[in-house]
Amino acid sequence: MIKDINHIGIAVNSLEEALPLYTDVYQMKLEGLETVESQGVRVAFVSAGNVKLELLEAVTKDSPIAKFIEKRGQGVHHIALGVQDIKDRIQELKEKGLRMIDQEPRVGAHGAEIAFLHPKTTSGILFELCEPKHVEGESL
Ligand code: ZN
Repeated sequence: MIKDINHIGIAVNSLEEALPLYTDVYQMKLEGLETVESQGVRVAFVSAGNVKLELLEAVTKDSPIAKFIEKRGQGVHHIALGVQDIKDRIQELKEKGLRMIDQEPRVGAHGAEIAFLHPKTTSGILFELCEPKHVEGESL
């Protein structure tokens, strides 16, 4: 059901302040910066080997990331699980008794389709299902 760990999401106050640790000190590769309006976040992806970290900065006060930082401070926010046929996977998880925050997939960074599970039925971990956008002739 799960293909891979697609990325780990980390909530930060400021990308400008947080990025040098990853790019300069750890010398991870900066894959790109993107604003995802629908979630009120600016996102930077950094990678090491085949693992990506998604640094998330809130750009609006009602962004889920702003609320998360207000309540719990900066830190690990979610783990994204790579899937195919995300709608079917959502259905399967619901049949297995898990609660979804998103009943329907929505568009996240890089045009991926994403849906969050409710941490209440996953031992407190916020998991994101993530189906990368399929680009013709390109493997992601
Ligand atoms: Zn994510």
